[in-house]
Amino acid sequence: MSSQSIAPTLPIIAVIGSLNADLTTYTSRIPNGGETLHATSFKVGSGGKGGNQACACAKLSRKPDDLQNGSAIIKMIGAVGNDAHGSMLLQDLQSTGIDTSGVAIKNDVETGVAVILVEETSGENRILLSAGANYSLTPTQFQALPLPLPSLIILQLEIPVSATLEILRAARTQNVEVLLNPAPAVELPGEAYTGLAHLVVNETEAVILSGCSADEIEDDTKLPAVAEVFHGRGVKNVLLTLGGRGVFFSSSSSSSGLVKAKKVEVVDTTAAGDTFVGAYALQVVKGDVDIKAAVLTANAAAAKTIGKRGAQTSIPWANELNSP
Ligand code: ATP
Repeated sequence: MSSQSIAPTLPIIAVIGSLNADLTTYTSRIPNGGETLHATSFKVGSGGKGGNQACACAKLSRKPDDLQNGSAIIKMIGAVGNDAHGSMLLQDLQSTGIDTSGVAIKNDVETGVAVILVEETSGENRILLSAGANYSLTPTQFQALPLPLPSLIILQLEIPVSATLEILRAARTQNVEVLLNPAPAVELPGEAYTGLAHLVVNETEAVILSGCSADEIEDDTKLPAVAEVFHGRGVKNVLLTLGGRGVFFSSSSSSSGLVKAKKVEVVDTTAAGDTFVGAYALQVVKGDVDIKAAVLTANAAAAKTIGKRGAQTSIPWANELNSP
């Protein structure tokens, strides 16, 4: 027998979701109807919840100078148009070590775009999404999952709900765990939650999808009951991300509790939720990981993202996680 050691097989995370070009205009105030204003600045960047979460998985699992040697293989599955925005998105994903062979380049439709207005005085943003190529994904193409089967599939709701439901069905049939981040929230049929391994929802999504009130979500003592709504539908691990309050986690088979957010200077919260998802997913695919430990790691990673402006650019690399 050869004395050479055989490298262990790395877990595969497949992110199936949206890719958008973020067209962000920063302005001192939002113009009124019919009014023209000079903006402060404008930036084009890579975004989309799918792309951001894939990027979080990739950056948090490897170092920028060693893209080939991450702790997991990250695959992006989605679609862009055959245009400049599509090229930018693909290039940015590849620059973090993501396998983009599952991203279709469509000739008949434009890349998805998010037009974002940020009012600098309030920090508030207004976002208009044009789904473009993201809506060209069809349920039929997911009747069988792409091979080799991943250890975990991550889904959001910026592609057609019909495609998302088909992926959930196929994953159930083929015993592949799914993390669903139902953003932006739309009501889903009960089957979406049946046997779901991980559900990550923020406060707004929790209100829409649980039927609980905003007051209940804001009350720490009511969070177990909110999580119970989702457990009752068949979800195993429920993660309620609560912005600056932190995260409430609840596992149907083990523990639950509130992990407080790290105290950090808030520069821009964009992609905090996506970083949380990526960091948590990486812990999960290690196998046998305590949910609380996974949440602590993800909470710390999300706090890092908040200290920098931007979406994918603000997500930390693995080597930046433990730096001050
Ligand atoms: P986004 O859409 O901005 O990416 P989200 O609304 O999906 O985020 P949040 O609940 O706002 O998700 O934030 C996700 C996680 O990021 C929180 O659970 C927490 O761990 C961290 N976080 C968010 N805001 C803060 C903050 N002000 N200070 C520290 N950590 C924060």
